[in-house]
Amino acid sequence: MAPTRAVIPDDFELPVDAFDIPICYDGDLSGVVIPEGLVRDRVRRLAKDIHAEIGNKPIALLCVLKGSYKFFTALVEELTNARSSCPEPMTVDFIRVKSYEDQMSTGQIQIMGLSNLDELKGKSVLVVDDISDTGRTLAKLLSTLHETGVEKTWTALLLSKRVKRVVDVPEDFVAFEIPDKFIVGYGLDYNQKFRDLGHICVMSPAGIEKYKS
Ligand code: 5GP
Repeated sequence: MAPTRAVIPDDFELPVDAFDIPICYDGDLSGVVIPEGLVRDRVRRLAKDIHAEIGNKPIALLCVLKGSYKFFTALVEELTNARSSCPEPMTVDFIRVKSYEDQMSTGQIQIMGLSNLDELKGKSVLVVDDISDTGRTLAKLLSTLHETGVEKTWTALLLSKRVKRVVDVPEDFVAFEIPDKFIVGYGLDYNQKFRDLGHICVMSPAGIEKYKS
């Protein structure tokens, strides 16, 4: 059975003014959907679930840049704790995937840094990604990994959007299931802004207009 996800209801948003938000993003956000502290708590449990499922096998963790950089760092830290009695080390690898402009998927998925994938041949890989929406990005990455000769894959997602997938992809470990809203923060961007924001937030119409490409 898949581990329990933390489900965020459709209308759940906390007031931006109740949180410490960098001044550069004043007026750009309309609500906090997941505060950073909650992400950290949830990632701790997710790491335990991953360890319970995968056990002490040697694993390679693949960070899908740029969106998952914060989630990846937190997960590696918690997994290191969860695997403290494990004789096999974890390894970390990085790849960059790009598909969005403004709030829209361009439909074209660019995978950059493919030469890194050679190092994953024959290994068991935990793919760590920020969010699954249509499912296209993750599906393309997983098929590329299998073509490269990766032996086994699992997926760990910070967020899974409550929308019908265009492509079905395995979502093995999901921190939060969220409503169908465009969100930013904790690594996720809008035209490269907001990745540094700690909390996961919804943008205001003014913010969308300000940073439109
Ligand atoms: P998919 O291919 O599943 O439609 O989308 C996956 C990618 O689209 C993610 O890795 C992310 O870069 C981007 N994406 C999808 N939904 C959102 C969102 O709500 N906010 C942001 N910032 N990016 C998103």
